[in-house]
Amino acid sequence: MSDRVVIVGASVGGVRTAQDLRRLGYDGDITVVGEESEQPYDKPPLSKQLLLGKQSEADISLLGEGGWDAIATEARLGVRATSLDIDSMVVNLADGEELEYDALVIATGVRPRTLSPELTELDSVFTVRELRDSRALAARAHLGPVVVVGAGFIGAEIASSFRSLGTEVTMTEALSTPFARALGPEVGGLLTDLHETNGVNLATEAAVTAIEKSGDLTLVRLVDGRVLEAATVVLGIGAVPNCEWLEGSGLKIEDGVFVDAGCAVLANGVGPHAEGVYAIGDVARQVDPSTNKDYRVEHWTNAVEQAHVVARQIVDPVAVPEPLKAPYFWSDQFGTKIQMVGRPAEATSVSLHHFETAGAERTVALYKNAGRLAAAVTLGWPRAIAACRKAWESGSSVADLPAVLADLADRARSAAI
Ligand SMILES: Cc1cc2nc3c(=O)[nH]c(=O)nc-3n(C[C@H](O)[C@H](O)[C@H](O)COP(=O)(O)OP(=O)(O)OC[C@H]3O[C@@H](n4cnc5c(N)ncnc54)[C@H](O)[C@@H]3O)c2cc1C
Repeated sequence: MSDRVVIVGASVGGVRTAQDLRRLGYDGDITVVGEESEQPYDKPPLSKQLLLGKQSEADISLLGEGGWDAIATEARLGVRATSLDIDSMVVNLADGEELEYDALVIATGVRPRTLSPELTELDSVFTVRELRDSRALAARAHLGPVVVVGAGFIGAEIASSFRSLGTEVTMTEALSTPFARALGPEVGGLLTDLHETNGVNLATEAAVTAIEKSGDLTLVRLVDGRVLEAATVVLGIGAVPNCEWLEGSGLKIEDGVFVDAGCAVLANGVGPHAEGVYAIGDVARQVDPSTNKDYRVEHWTNAVEQAHVVARQIVDPVAVPEPLKAPYFWSDQFGTKIQMVGRPAEATSVSLHHFETAGAERTVALYKNAGRLAAAVTLGWPRAIAACRKAWESGSSVADLPAVLADLADRARSAAI
């Protein structure tokens, strides 16, 4: 067993790895390195509960009572890891410290894309990844119109939160249907309805050509010549993995750090693996052994599940990794829980199914490929997603799923009588 575990990234995946190591009985040293100086906090509430004032900063702490001491972990916060030497098994920090490891967990996540570097100079233009972003945005709800650039999940959550606070919101999207990039036009249409019903202005086929200040206003120029006036602009145009610090380390990196099914890092030219090095969460690009395809998944549950896989391997190096689970994601918009399992991009067709549960209509989108379930999205029906997840993981025929969901709906109706 390793005596010294170093974890780089003090957030969702990194902190969970330290907690799981202690839960599994690991009694060696653990050091967590984090670039942010904040104590670790959860990320999903930044665009919703925290912005809406439904949760406080204390509520979203990732450490339990007793903080770092409770998991006997040393934290180096406010300092970046700058390079890795896999031969001498050392991580170098920006302050000159060198940390030796027997096991290293890379959990450095992603950072938001921006349209141009100059935009970071504008005090009215934001991205959302850190606590300070959410804090700053919460203070701007009363300042006037918000323009959200990009109708992806984070953009849509920001639009939903500001609208719920009574702020005028316009969301722009380069494609003709918002949300279509991730979910296709069918589910994109449903989410468009949800946003329009709740008063979000949608500007589609509206690539942004420029963002500039004009007095107190920020002007968002669209490709069709329109100009949107905003007090605040939020960019939700995707993210890039934080793996530059690993350049030159010999690890296999291409839009993420390549890992095997057990999250062990694959090395270039120095053998199949870098000894004792793992990567998890948003930064990891995992190879699915059953298809040999690789995926980088920016979902909270993925980071937490991979943290567990790695902690188990560090404690028990001969443990066989569990089979990969269905990718799972949720989002909360206008009081509706949107949940997804699987990979919509791999579907060849999509069908929408409507069910009557206890007094409410529920919609499930089934994405299919060769008779199998490629993905499923449910709107406001958490119980259905478990059935879809089971079908995805078992690889069973998708043909049976509508009947399974109809049965769930029947039972929900009977229980309500
Ligand atoms: C606003 C927002 C809302 C979200 N909502 C949802 C949701 O509703 N549902 C869902 O499934 N997922 C959601 N996610 C995604 C989810 O939070 C991520 O998938 C999860 O946080 C990934 O965990 P991670 O440990 O890989 O990365 P992170 O939690 O991002 O942690 C990475 C950490 O590494 C640090 N770091 C980076 N580089 C270095 C370095 N060189 N040295 C030291 N530290 C470094 C970063 O500062 C960061 O703190 C949301 C994300 C955001 C930002």
